[in-house]
Amino acid sequence: MKSVDILVIGGGLSGSATALGLVRQGAGKVVLLDEQLPSQRLSRGNFGLTWFMCKGAGNPGYAKWCRMAAMQWPDFAAELEEESGYNVELEWTGGAVHAFGDEQLQGYAESVSALKAVCGEAGIDYPVRILSRDEFSDIVPDMVLGDEVSGAMYTEEQGHVNPLKLLAAMRCLFQKKGGEYHGSQSAHAILPQKDGTYVVKTSQGDYQCQKVVIAAGHGSSRLLAPLGEKLHIYPQRGQLMVTERHERLLTVPLLSVRQTPDGTFMIGLSSEDTALDTQVTPEAMQSQAENAIRLFPMLGKLNWVRAWGAIRVMTPDGAPIYTRVKGHDNITVLALHSAVSLAPLQSRAIAPWILGDGDDELISQFSNGRFHV
Ligand SMILES: Cc1cc2nc3c(=O)[nH]c(=O)nc-3n(C[C@H](O)[C@H](O)[C@H](O)COP(=O)(O)OP(=O)(O)OC[C@H]3O[C@@H](n4cnc5c(N)ncnc54)[C@H](O)[C@@H]3O)c2cc1C
Repeated sequence: MKSVDILVIGGGLSGSATALGLVRQGAGKVVLLDEQLPSQRLSRGNFGLTWFMCKGAGNPGYAKWCRMAAMQWPDFAAELEEESGYNVELEWTGGAVHAFGDEQLQGYAESVSALKAVCGEAGIDYPVRILSRDEFSDIVPDMVLGDEVSGAMYTEEQGHVNPLKLLAAMRCLFQKKGGEYHGSQSAHAILPQKDGTYVVKTSQGDYQCQKVVIAAGHGSSRLLAPLGEKLHIYPQRGQLMVTERHERLLTVPLLSVRQTPDGTFMIGLSSEDTALDTQVTPEAMQSQAENAIRLFPMLGKLNWVRAWGAIRVMTPDGAPIYTRVKGHDNITVLALHSAVSLAPLQSRAIAPWILGDGDDELISQFSNGRFHV
């Protein structure tokens, strides 16, 4: 049996960012396992936004967490690139959500005021403003807006990244710094030992661990059930479509359309309750394409070349779960939507917290226990 200090189960964005943070903190021998389940490709099938806008309505702790993560992104990316050698293609060019018609724009104005108040309560700023149609047009000067576009909600302080390169960079740097990564290795059971350690049974042998981190997305519940912990997550499918490449026209990402540095337009925004079914549907493709063309009519001239579905890890209030398992302080569970946006904090704040040195007051707001009513 191999002996390790920390075993991280799940090598998606969440597990990889955290495992990287752990080796940076000098946590000893850290091993990261990933089962590579075809139904759990969400870390490789997402939209790549590094976003805080609209997050945390009615939840000051979550609003603060998202804003803190966004503020750390430029520095996090620079450090990651320098040390890993990967260009994660972060473009810190702002971000927008378009509105159709005056009523929707008015609704945005109200939501911005509400979130400014929530953020004020949490002691942080919320640098988001409403743009008229002309002002919105000025920030996307090479794109002609559709007739129904009335304006947008906009911030300068977020952006987008290549999520595949982000994942590769974090896994690569984790290994460069002494961590051990095993793809195609599945954890089957976590067995508590009398001396306070854990034996984790996997498809390729057993590990004796001082600490275990479960970041296995929708694979986490089956590992936790025998320990008596019910994880409050549910699956929600999102579908994305990608066009052929085109000369670069759009550098500011929108919530539903972004153009990557290599020229493709990514189009998305669907959210459906479908259990773990990742298939693509004509209905979602049609409605996403229609929305994108109403926004930027030129997109109607481009061929759509690829599409996929991926299953979000959602919690009832949309905020992450960072929790220790009841009766097992050395098992931590991380389950979240927005693991691209939150990667800097997974690495820089959650990893120290796992080692007993974090902002417990802020992080404990995200316990799984908040849903036990
Ligand atoms: C359409 C769409 C668009 C999105 N866009 C964005 C965005 O723009 N910005 C953003 O921040 N977020 C976005 N997200 C969310 C983001 O993709 C997720 O938050 C993130 O991928 C979650 O990462 P994770 O590591 O927690 O989970 P996962 O990616 O599910 O990783 C868990 C890993 O654990 C492995 N695993 C499971 N069970 C076991 C086991 N027993 N043993 C070993 N390994 C196991 C799985 O194979 C998997 O690789 C989007 C999601 C979708 C669906």
